Amino acid sequence: MNRWQRRIERAQELARESPVYPELLNFYTEIARFQAAPPQNLDRLLELIRRSAPDPMKESARAPLTWDDLLRSADPMHAFFARVLLQAQTEERARAAQIPPGVQPQCPFCGEKPVAAVLRPEGDGAKRYLLCSLCFTEWEFRRLLCPHCGEENKDKLPVYTAEEFPHVRVEACDTCRVYLKSVDLTKNGLAVPEVDELASIALDLWAAEHGYKKLQTNLFGL
Ligand SMILES: [Zn+2]
Ligand SMILES: [Zn+2]
Repeated sequence: MNRWQRRIERAQELARESPVYPELLNFYTEIARFQAAPPQNLDRLLELIRRSAPDPMKESARAPLTWDDLLRSADPMHAFFARVLLQAQTEERARAAQIPPGVQPQCPFCGEKPVAAVLRPEGDGAKRYLLCSLCFTEWEFRRLLCPHCGEENKDKLPVYTAEEFPHVRVEACDTCRVYLKSVDLTKNGLAVPEVDELASIALDLWAAEHGYKKLQTNLFGL
């Protein structure tokens, strides 16, 4: 199964299992199908948005648009359209590239910030990786280190979990008040980090209520 199929199947599974935001996950499924099948051009994307996006987004796709319009626009929906197109293309390039191992908090391939952390099984424990918000490259990152301000004091780096997502946690920093979510593959080997991150909006709402700001928003700007 290729990575697009895994994302699509995981989104469908999550939409069935935890019907908290099924519309968002169903719409993501459409977007992932679009991203999986080249050519991913703007006209095809606008057609998809007009057909299956939530209503407010349809409005933003009503008029014909060029790539230049998107880049100059102040409409956050247009930023989303640009990201859908760039994401698939940048991931393609990242897959084909030799990426040097990174230790920094930005993606070693494209320089974007991570959208989540991933805990992958390693021996008896887990290793922590960061997941690029644009090209989905993963690179290893120290377990106890804030990717925003460099805090390394364990007492300043609280972790929060919620019952409905036992394998996703909020990794916060009380020094800079920034957080990112981590997807723990040692607890759920079926999770697909970029999809489970999207699905666990409840944790983002919780973090915002508690005064934390997300390090980097995801594809949907959440
Ligand atoms: Zn990247
Ligand atoms: Zn920090």
